[in-house]
Amino acid sequence: MSSISVPPPKCLQKPLTVPFRHMFGPGPSNVPPRILEAGANPVIGHMHPEIFEIMNDIKSGIQYMFQTQNNMTLAVSGTGHTAMECAIFNTVEAGESVLAAVNGIWGERAAEMAERIDYTNYLSQLLFCDQTVLSSQALSKHRPAVFFLAHGESSTGVLHPLDGIGQLCHKYNCLFLVDSVASIGGAPLYMDQQEIDILYTGSQKVLNAPPGTAPISFSERACQKIFNRRTKPVSFFLDLGWLANYWGCDGKPSRVYHHTGPVTAFYCLRESLAVLVEEGLENSWERHQNVAEYFHAGLESMGLKLFVKEKTARLPTVTTIVAPHGYDWKEITTYIMKTHNLEISGGLGPSVGLVLRVGLMGCNSSRANVDMVLAALKDALKHCHKSKV
Ligand code: PMP
Repeated sequence: MSSISVPPPKCLQKPLTVPFRHMFGPGPSNVPPRILEAGANPVIGHMHPEIFEIMNDIKSGIQYMFQTQNNMTLAVSGTGHTAMECAIFNTVEAGESVLAAVNGIWGERAAEMAERIDYTNYLSQLLFCDQTVLSSQALSKHRPAVFFLAHGESSTGVLHPLDGIGQLCHKYNCLFLVDSVASIGGAPLYMDQQEIDILYTGSQKVLNAPPGTAPISFSERACQKIFNRRTKPVSFFLDLGWLANYWGCDGKPSRVYHHTGPVTAFYCLRESLAVLVEEGLENSWERHQNVAEYFHAGLESMGLKLFVKEKTARLPTVTTIVAPHGYDWKEITTYIMKTHNLEISGGLGPSVGLVLRVGLMGCNSSRANVDMVLAALKDALKHCHKSKV
C-alpha cells in the first residue's frame, strides 16, 4: 500500500485568521503584546540550561505571587484543571476522604476528581460552605486528608475568606488545598501566613498569559504526606516526584527527562510574572478592587443587581450580575459579542441561567474597560427582546 487515500485538507491551504476580541468573560483574558512577543522567541530544548534558568525565574515569580517560601513551587504543563488534579492525585490515596467546600462548580469538580482515585474505598464528602468558615465539626466528623476551597469561585462570583482555615485544618491533621485560578493577583492571598498547604492557579486570568501553564506550590507538610505515600499517585504525568525533579525542586544534581516542557508557554508565563513584579502585588490587588467597585456602582446605577449581596464576598476579578428579568441571557451575550466585539458570559454549573459573568483581569482591569462593558450592556438591554411577563 503506497498511495495516500486522505487528500490534503483545503481548509489548511488558507491562512490562519484569528480576530481581535475584548476578552471580558471569566477567562481567558486578553494577552498584551509584550507577553505575546515573549512567546515568539526561538524554541530551544526543554532540557537546555537556558530553559532551566527561565524555569527558576518562574519559580521565584510564583513564590512572590503566592507569598510563599516553599521550595516545592513549579508550573504544571496544562491548564487549571491539570493543577487541580496534580494537587488531588498526589495528596490523596485510596480510602482517604476529601472534604470540599461547595460555593459554586469548583468544589463539585474537586470532589469528582477525588472520587476517581478509588470508586470503592473513596469517601467523598461535600460541605455546603455558603460563605461561612469551615467548622471543626465537619473536620472532626469526616476526618478528611484534604480540605478543598476555591478562594475565587468564578461560577458564582464569590471571594471566600481564608484566614483561620489553615490553622483549623492542621488541628485535625488535614491539608488545606486552595484554588486561586480566578483570584490570584487580583485579591490578597498569603500562602505561608494563611497556612495553605497546596495552592494553584492558571496562566490565563490575572496573569494575562495564554492558557496552558498552571503555577502550583506545596508546603513542607504537604510534601511530607506526598513523599511518604503507600501507593504511587494514579497519574504518571502529574507525579510530583517527577515534576519536582524537572523543576529542580528535589535537590538532586541533575534533571531527568519526564515530559517535553512547553517552552513557548514558559516564556509567556515568565513575562507575565515580570509584569506582576513590575506593578507590585499590592498595587495589583488595589487596582482590581477599585475597578471592581467602580464597575459594581455603574451596574447598580443602571438598575442591575449584583448576584453576591455581601460586598466583602464579591470577587474583584469576576463579577456576577443577576440575569436581567424578562431577557434571555444568551441573547444578551450574543448581541454584545456581535455588536461590540466583546465577550461576557452566562453562568456555569449551578449559576447557569441565573447570572451574567464579566471578568476584568490583569491588564483588562481598568475604568476605561468598565465604561466599555457598561455601554455594551446598556445597548444590549435597549435592543434585545424583553418579555412583558
Ligand atoms: N478553578 C477556577 C476557580 C476557575 O475559574 C477555572 C477556570 N474557569 C478553573 C479552576 C479551571 O481552569 P482551566 O479552565 O484553566 O482548566
